Amino acid sequence: MADNKLISKIPDGPLAEKWTRRKSEIRIVSPNNKRKLEVIVVGTGLGGASAAASLGELGYNVKIFCISDSPRRAHSIAAQGGINAAKNYQNDNDSVYRLFYDTIKGGDYRSREANVYRLAEVSAAIIDQCVAQGVPFAREYGGYLANRSFGGVQVSRTFYARGQTGQQLLLGAYASLNKEIAAGTVTSYPRHEMLDLVIINGQAKGIIARNLVTGEIERFGAHAVVLATGGYGNTYFLSTNAMNSNGSAAMQAYRKGAFFANPCFAQIHPTCIPVHGDQQCKLTLMSESLRNDGRIWVPKKMEDVMKLRKHEIKPSQIPEEDRDYYLERRYPAFGNLVPRDVASRAAKERCDAGYGVNETGLAVFLDFADAIKRLGHQRVEERYGNLFQMYEKITTTSPWEEPMMIYPAIHYTMGGLWVDYDLQTTIPGLYAIGEANFSDHGGNRLGASALMQGLADGYFILPYTIGDYLSHKFAEPKTDTSAPEFDEAEKAVRERIAKIFAVKGTETVDSIHKKLGHIMWEYVGMARTEEGLKKGIEEIRALREEFWKTVRVPGTNEEFNQELEKALRLVDFFDIGELMAMDALNRKESCGGHFREEMQTEEGETKRDDENFMYVAAWEYKGEGAEPELHKEPLKYENIKIATRNYKD
Ligand SMILES: Cc1cc2nc3c(=O)[nH]c(=O)nc-3n(C[C@H](O)[C@H](O)[C@H](O)COP(=O)(O)OP(=O)(O)OC[C@H]3O[C@@H](n4cnc5c(N)ncnc54)[C@H](O)[C@@H]3O)c2cc1C
Repeated sequence: MADNKLISKIPDGPLAEKWTRRKSEIRIVSPNNKRKLEVIVVGTGLGGASAAASLGELGYNVKIFCISDSPRRAHSIAAQGGINAAKNYQNDNDSVYRLFYDTIKGGDYRSREANVYRLAEVSAAIIDQCVAQGVPFAREYGGYLANRSFGGVQVSRTFYARGQTGQQLLLGAYASLNKEIAAGTVTSYPRHEMLDLVIINGQAKGIIARNLVTGEIERFGAHAVVLATGGYGNTYFLSTNAMNSNGSAAMQAYRKGAFFANPCFAQIHPTCIPVHGDQQCKLTLMSESLRNDGRIWVPKKMEDVMKLRKHEIKPSQIPEEDRDYYLERRYPAFGNLVPRDVASRAAKERCDAGYGVNETGLAVFLDFADAIKRLGHQRVEERYGNLFQMYEKITTTSPWEEPMMIYPAIHYTMGGLWVDYDLQTTIPGLYAIGEANFSDHGGNRLGASALMQGLADGYFILPYTIGDYLSHKFAEPKTDTSAPEFDEAEKAVRERIAKIFAVKGTETVDSIHKKLGHIMWEYVGMARTEEGLKKGIEEIRALREEFWKTVRVPGTNEEFNQELEKALRLVDFFDIGELMAMDALNRKESCGGHFREEMQTEEGETKRDDENFMYVAAWEYKGEGAEPELHKEPLKYENIKIATRNYKD
């Protein structure tokens, strides 16, 4: 039964015509009227930067906000491996349909058909746009853009710029953004953190932001607000995300009425440098692109495992016949290129069985010896040079001589603010794009699809769909930031800050966040159980109480104070963590990255329950301390045959 609070606005008609149909229906705001309209974009990653540049070019008045000192230092800059697009440059029979199919299947049949098809459809235009901006994608000898493969896919459709694709794409978007800043259509507010959303008459009308340098609490009004604030992977403390990545803006919107969808769908990436100590605050990703040529293995014999742990032998000394290339063994059709959730669980299975190859027993090998023999040093250097260098700098081991050691880590969050086909949340005038929305990735995102989605949202979807909403607004005056709703929101922000300073405890924010991370990893991590999730919820609640008794934030609000910034974000991470656990508890099936131990096949694979859980779980906030209400958006598959994911044959 459809929920009347979740109107997805998916256009009627055949799948391949839906986006064209929607675009033809969307009302257009005339150039004269665009100049009267203001839009706030929070976030300058690939989603926010591309949206703000496009909206500015269209003629709207845009204000853009970010935490970092420059928009170009957003977390998107870290993206390594590439961006997907259905160009079929390799002539390997790729197509819009195939990209759509792979993405729906990769997400374990928990994403919307119409959105995913649109994503595949606009993917080719993204590459054209970026090439026109001068993004230096890798090229073949003849000048064509080069492609490589990513997990869960049997064609090569990933465009890349060595291992720095995110950085190059962001420089492209940033250049376009700067053009608009120079033209006066975009005003940039770096080092400004949104601390609340302002709603007037049920519509998003502005934000309260803290100037991170001076501590000043400022008000900004607009006719619409776009959140492009990224994902909430740092709930786990240790993740591959940038240290500033957080889920606070999404939680502020959630508390003001935006529904939060599928919070339990978090991605654990199989190839990260393993945790190596208690003082670590960040994990490093080794790009999925490495699985194109790297082979994953552990020893077959326990005695070799023991010798490795004691450093009595080197991995290269273990003969071929004594190695277990477990992904190639278990999934012959896809081998090392199975999707991330499958590869992560397989690594955990081997390590749980005692075959982990480092001192902690939580590592497997990613080996390039075969690739170096087959392709030669130069080709491997061209493809992965900077990643090899990064690995060696961090671990002091050269991947040219011995295999890398890797282990799964939290990397991306598929859940996020619920949005309709127009990318509008359940609050009129509030949009969410990029990783901040619940997006198109269902239970598991395929590699190189986040950049595609962020740029599709920012360059080609939101700039059109937001016009439909704004076409009713041009006669409305600019938002008055002295309205009582702004007073109230600012007051609440000031009270929250004062409450944190008033605790005057003894614990640092990081020490408490680390504890939250342990709880999340233990109970809401790679494997989840009913008992564990219930315990996790209790422990998160207890830790939240501990925070409010023991945290110590030095200094004042009226200065650059990163401890305060972290404390404010941690308060939201508690709520996100609890919501993730509740959602995971509700979803009594295994699907994508959400693995409920009670729901697995005899071979340890995920067991979905399509009859009872083929829906988007959208949670509505019901007040502090109250249970949120679950709304369900049923998922319909009319153009794809629902099947059990199979990467074996
Ligand atoms: C190491 C790594 C490698 C990756 N490699 C790939 C890859 O090869 N291919 C791929 O497709 N994906 C990759 N991803 C995923 C991808 O990079 C991200 O999903 C994507 O870049 C997110 O973009 P975004 O614009 O949604 O958000 P982000 O880039 O996270 O940007 C968020 C922005 O919001 C701002 N912000 C947040 N909160 C506030 C607030 N309250 N007030 C003001 N501003 C705020 C931040 O300052 C920032 O500007 C990778 C991820 C990681 C961690």
